Amino acid sequence: MPRKEHLKDVRKIVVKVGTSTIAEDGNLSRKKMSRIAGGVIALLKRGYQVVIVSSGAVAAGAGAMGRNRNTLSIPEKQALAAVGQSIMINEYRAIFKKKGYTIGQILLTEDDIKNRKRYLNARNTFTSLLDMGIIPIVNENDSVTVKEIKFGDNDTLSAYVSSLIDADLLILLSDVDGFYHDLKDPVPADEVFEITEEIMQNARGAGSVYGTGGMLTKILAAELIIRFGEMMVIARGSEKNVLGRILDGERIGTIFIGKDRSLGSRKKWLALRKPDGFITIDGGAVIALRDAKKSLLASGITDVQGDFDMGDPVDISTSDGALIGKGIVNYNVEELKKIMGKKSHDIKKILGSKYFNEVINRDDLILY
Ligand code: GLU
Repeated sequence: MPRKEHLKDVRKIVVKVGTSTIAEDGNLSRKKMSRIAGGVIALLKRGYQVVIVSSGAVAAGAGAMGRNRNTLSIPEKQALAAVGQSIMINEYRAIFKKKGYTIGQILLTEDDIKNRKRYLNARNTFTSLLDMGIIPIVNENDSVTVKEIKFGDNDTLSAYVSSLIDADLLILLSDVDGFYHDLKDPVPADEVFEITEEIMQNARGAGSVYGTGGMLTKILAAELIIRFGEMMVIARGSEKNVLGRILDGERIGTIFIGKDRSLGSRKKWLALRKPDGFITIDGGAVIALRDAKKSLLASGITDVQGDFDMGDPVDISTSDGALIGKGIVNYNVEELKKIMGKKSHDIKKILGSKYFNEVINRDDLILY
């Protein structure tokens, strides 16, 4: 299948920008950053939604303080990330502002993804930013993260962000042309559908050859993306009009293609989790979920049991007791007991504040 065909339904894109793609001689390069910004804006104008994951905080901080990034201790790196992140985001803000666009900064730790509550909150924030036409710019929260809660590299972070926002495509812009099955072959692989042991070995061994960031973290990111059923492209960031050409379906870099979109990571995660509670729904809601493929609203709920918090998984049953699925709730048990059977517009009156339209979002639902 030609690339164009694979990419035809892409709407939501994560663009990961490596330090090498936006820095020059140890400092951020406004010229390089402007090029990336120009490419992102061109995608927005074509109707795509774009989230940027950008590295460069540590490099920018080290550059500003005249320090060599490779000789920093961990606390120094964390301190300089605080300096550099603000420099970098200011730079992005100035560049995008000049072109008439607003950015929003999001700093994440791995905990934010593992914890369902924070995960849902982060996802809602991304959705709101994108709905408002704001460009989210994400980095790891390097200044506060310790080893245990660290993604460690932005290739991994960008794969998690892709899953978080349910992106269709992740583009890793780097200083390599793509993935090579054989480094002696001058042309990078075109399409990869599966991360084989051979690819892993190649990536492990190729770190030094591929330069900063390494190929291993990119291949691990690709593995996640394939598991999510999404797509990922590795391409050289300095390539002319690289983002536009990728979306045109041009053979540029390497594309990794996941198979089963319906088995997204959230649903796999959900399928493995024990429920913390039970929700019973009426016949209308069963039809809405099953046939109309809608989200679950409070109005269709007839009974709520268990001890669950927002972000926990609950089983869903029909009124005659048949188990029909499982989902992640946007409300805790007390709230849900108050709003079950009620219309969405009444929720605000009952709870004092209304968080979400849906009790269980379609994307957080599996049906048996
Ligand atoms: N978060 C780091 C930074 O902004 C970059 C990590 C990476 O390059 O993978 O400096």
